[in-house]
Amino acid sequence: MGIINKLAVAGRCGLLLLGSFGLWACDGLPVPVEFPSATVEVSSLPPCVDDDCNCRDFRDQALAQAVFDAFPDDPFVLDRDGNGVPCESLPAVSPGLDPTVPPSQNPHLLLGNPSNATADNPNNLLIERPQYALSYNRDRGIANWASWQLSADWLGSVERQDDFRQDGGLPAGVYQVTPNDYQGSGFDRGHIVPSGDRTRSEQDNSATFLMTNIQPQSPQNNRGLWRELEEYTRDLVYQLDYRLVVIAGGYGELDDLANGRITIPSRLWKIVAVLDHSNPGEVRLDSAYPILAIDVPNQDTPSTDWQTYRTTVDRIELATGYDFFAQLPVPLQEELESSLGRPIAP
Ligand code: MN
Ligand code: MN
Repeated sequence: MGIINKLAVAGRCGLLLLGSFGLWACDGLPVPVEFPSATVEVSSLPPCVDDDCNCRDFRDQALAQAVFDAFPDDPFVLDRDGNGVPCESLPAVSPGLDPTVPPSQNPHLLLGNPSNATADNPNNLLIERPQYALSYNRDRGIANWASWQLSADWLGSVERQDDFRQDGGLPAGVYQVTPNDYQGSGFDRGHIVPSGDRTRSEQDNSATFLMTNIQPQSPQNNRGLWRELEEYTRDLVYQLDYRLVVIAGGYGELDDLANGRITIPSRLWKIVAVLDHSNPGEVRLDSAYPILAIDVPNQDTPSTDWQTYRTTVDRIELATGYDFFAQLPVPLQEELESSLGRPIAP
């Protein structure tokens, strides 16, 4: 295992041929000015090592230890007392994934159910609506993830309904977060499934304002980088007529709100996969079809360009413990998950 050299992925550009027209695309990432040297490939480490890790970003001590061991100088200051054991207050190891669930027919779960959520598991509670599917976490007061299809059929001209409201459909005993729970927190009510992705009908748009689809999001992030990523994703549909599956969520614990009822995630992530035009049941991965995986701190980031935070699905799996694309054949799953993909400017 060699020292990783980020320059190796920078600045590859090429002409992509899409149907009858071509466009220039670069798969280079902006190269950080200073990047700590790791003793193992960063591809085997969680995405936070690309910017800044904190103990709150790790789901268990074992993962913090892996990062600490890879960076002997401890640039992220994970081992404050210098005893060689970082992030000692974290659980030693996290529980494994919940038991596998049968493949779903829900179009929003076409690529799988990343945490094996079910309708009777309070911290991995599957909620299925016509507009999206998500896994809700009772103890965190936010979703673990949401998954939704995005294509021209979902986009219309309906105005933003702005009807943030508690989700009355939650089972008894699960606290219903209210819009007021976020008041005065300094955090935005950030959509996971964006309002702008559901503009075909008032009912569709309104479904995105249920508080189970909302997470506390840094205002700068929500209104800047994240919004641009959402707009880029819709542009893939508006301008290239792509059919997409988007999966997004947050992990880690920056802080909490509403007397501990709502966790503010420390990192936000999003995965965008492109479906085959002629066979929308299949994912495309070739030079013309990008896979995007983004993992970004939930704060006002030094770079407001979302491309700075591109990573692989494999590394988001490592950070979250989920298994994405489980419904795809293993060779395709592996290829998609290890790919940095390439940004395409619509
Ligand atoms: Mn937003
Ligand atoms: Mn997977």
